[in-house]
Amino acid sequence: MESDLRELYQQIILDHGRKPRNFGDLEGANHSAEGYNPLCGDRIHVALHTDDSGRITGIRFKGSGCTICTASASLMTAAVEGKARSDAESMAEDFHRLVTTDETPQGLDDSLGKLSVFAGVREFPLRVKCATLPWHALRAALKDNDTPVSTE
Ligand code: ZN
Repeated sequence: MESDLRELYQQIILDHGRKPRNFGDLEGANHSAEGYNPLCGDRIHVALHTDDSGRITGIRFKGSGCTICTASASLMTAAVEGKARSDAESMAEDFHRLVTTDETPQGLDDSLGKLSVFAGVREFPLRVKCATLPWHALRAALKDNDTPVSTE
């Protein structure tokens, strides 16, 4: 990866880590779940609202996580708001592939957009779980899983 591109990626992650979007409570949420990553101590609670067609009409998160986890949750909520539930689920799969495969599979940059900034996380295996935790919580929320999800 070119170094200026890497720097831009880091800036986006730091920006979202420090000033997370969609942070707080969601009034009228009809799905929620909690995720925990014991390796790092990240704890994320995701609350969302879906309409009758299954579209995600609102999403917020709260909790305490490291910069990577908080930035991932921030960018995730921005990415899936307004999306159909099936699209959000396939984004979760794409994101998982992005951070766990050595090279970005073709077409993934297009489907993930800004979320592609997390490609660099694959070089830090311990951070992969920080980045994927919000997505685990999102999937659990969509499935109405009441048991907190853990990365372990
Ligand atoms: Zn973390």
